[in-house]
Amino acid sequence: MTLDETEAQSFHWLVDMLESVEVGLVVLDLEFRVQAWNGFMENHSGITASKIRNRVLFELFPDIPEAWLTRKVDAVALLNTRAFTSWEQRPYLFRFRNTRPITGTEDYMFQNLTISPLSGSSGQVEKICLMVYDVTDIASGKRALERANEQLAKLSMTDRLTNLLNRGTWENLVDAEFERYRRYNQATSLVMFDIDFFKKVNDSYGHLVGDEVIKHAATTAKHNLRQSDSIGRYGGEEFGIILPETDVEGARIICERIRESINDSVVQTTIAPIRYTVSVGIAQLDHAAKSYMEWMQQADEALYAAKNGGRNRVIVFDQL
Ligand code: GH3
Ligand code: MG
Ligand code: MG
Repeated sequence: MTLDETEAQSFHWLVDMLESVEVGLVVLDLEFRVQAWNGFMENHSGITASKIRNRVLFELFPDIPEAWLTRKVDAVALLNTRAFTSWEQRPYLFRFRNTRPITGTEDYMFQNLTISPLSGSSGQVEKICLMVYDVTDIASGKRALERANEQLAKLSMTDRLTNLLNRGTWENLVDAEFERYRRYNQATSLVMFDIDFFKKVNDSYGHLVGDEVIKHAATTAKHNLRQSDSIGRYGGEEFGIILPETDVEGARIICERIRESINDSVVQTTIAPIRYTVSVGIAQLDHAAKSYMEWMQQADEALYAAKNGGRNRVIVFDQL
């Protein structure tokens, strides 16, 4: 075999490899006319190399962001350097259907893209090569992880039974609201409420029915609040509410609404219809409270007074 024949052979192999490699290879001239289009591109686009040759890329793929790609390619040609974009910046350049069985949850193939300059013998950039990598597996793995993390973050902030904020998260908000009051002096009220004679519910019907009643109290209270109010499950059947920009009069109206609507409800539990009531304590924040804990104590004292006063009532702290 002569040297020329050997070279011709290896060139043949090379072309074979480029044809079958699992990466999309596209060669464009500087007017975006397609000069080469390998097997990967044929398979995923359904367009053969012979059909697309010398056609302007954007005519066959109107979805491709022309201005963006032109800017990228111009920079690559001008600077004679490679450019790289990941699926995280732009999920795909070519809108190909995802064909991977394991990542069937994604509709489209996620792609990383490398844009390389190809120089002629003069050293001038004459053509541009696009390399399209299928990164659907990585992308969908990462997206699933992100979704799981989001859910986890949410779960760690909320109470499982009621979906309300858990005690820690809610107390942090009370602290933040207390600090906000010290700066802006806006009227703000804190509410603590507790289910009356709840032990009886548990004793008569069992813990699971008790849980259903707790859920009912949470939902009813939540329905009567504004978006800006924050409700948390403070303890077993004890709840706390922050009412920003609300004075005692406003707070009393909201709390009476909650108390009444619980008083008027019949909870259709799995075992029996149950009626129950709640006692409510309110404390509007003023400068007497030296810490958010003191503020919570005031609301708790009001709640205690509501219990002592006969339950199923709303008591405001400054009226003790
Ligand atoms: P009061 O009117 O004075 O509030 O009387 P009470 O019986 O409701 O007394 P208390 O508030 O002290 O009762 C709390 C009870 O709630 C005690 C506990 O067994 C029950 N409990 C606490 N957490 C849960 C829970 O997650 N599920 C259920 N079913 N019961 C709980
Ligand atoms: Mg109770
Ligand atoms: Mg209690």
